[in-house]
Amino acid sequence: MYTKAIEIVEVSPRDGLQNEKQPISTADKLTLINRAIEAGARRIEVTSFVNPKAVPQMADADAVCTGLPDRDDVTYIGLVMNLRGAERAIATGRIDQLGAVAVATDTFAMRNQGQTSDGSVDAARAIIKRAKETGLTAQATIGASFGCPFEGEVSEDRVVAMAKAIAEAGPVEIALADTIGVGNPAHVARLVVRVREAINPLPVRVHFHNTRGTGLANVWAAIAAGAQTVDASIGGLGGCPFAPGAAGNVATDDVFYMLERAEISTGLSLDAIIETNHWLAGVMDKELPAMVGKAGGFPNPADDKERNAA
Ligand code: ZN
Repeated sequence: MYTKAIEIVEVSPRDGLQNEKQPISTADKLTLINRAIEAGARRIEVTSFVNPKAVPQMADADAVCTGLPDRDDVTYIGLVMNLRGAERAIATGRIDQLGAVAVATDTFAMRNQGQTSDGSVDAARAIIKRAKETGLTAQATIGASFGCPFEGEVSEDRVVAMAKAIAEAGPVEIALADTIGVGNPAHVARLVVRVREAINPLPVRVHFHNTRGTGLANVWAAIAAGAQTVDASIGGLGGCPFAPGAAGNVATDDVFYMLERAEISTGLSLDAIIETNHWLAGVMDKELPAMVGKAGGFPNPADDKERNAA
């Protein structure tokens, strides 16, 4: 039997936008965040504190934080790769939760954050410790959990060992990320079960990209295997600048539709998500990948009226 509720972390302001070539204004990012809150999002990855030369789209991290609406009921997540980033995030006074990233292979870890895989585990642990010292919480994500763009297959034992090592530092959860969208539902189910056992009682979050069309199937497999939280991006924008060929995050629109139709609640409003998708498509001047953003929900009362009239 499936769970009755799943938490969606809205990642569009960070993962959704970071790979976009066209600069997005701070004001538009803040509108996106406000719209996500209005749509019901209560945990939002708002920005990342990385080197602006490496990720120009995130150069306004401090300004985004200054403009965040004052909401006690919303958890704002700032992604950081090292203690320097953690200090920047803490200094804003607006970030509730630090997001640390460890990467499962050495080559990808070097390209993404200039560290070995082991080094990225140590950095994640240090970031979690620093967050807790300052009264913040921290989450951790294991990038390339299902495959690496440079080294190919990733050992499940390696990911489980990393999860265990990071869990000892005391994050609120650990996420398995399919950074380049190569996972399949059987692999996802297996790894979620193994990592849950390894980090129990900490919950597992999942982060999928729909690069090869398996994103939603992977979300479903992860939930069936006991994952409690899913990262998603309104409209399905997204991609990693350091992962060749990376495509969008699973779309909040599509994840919402699949889950709510299966009677798993998310706390979000589909109308507000789709309106935000269309607003964002206008800002980006392109159609966004989400399928439900194009087709709309179901059943749709307006459609019923037309059918009756016909
Ligand atoms: Zn991602």
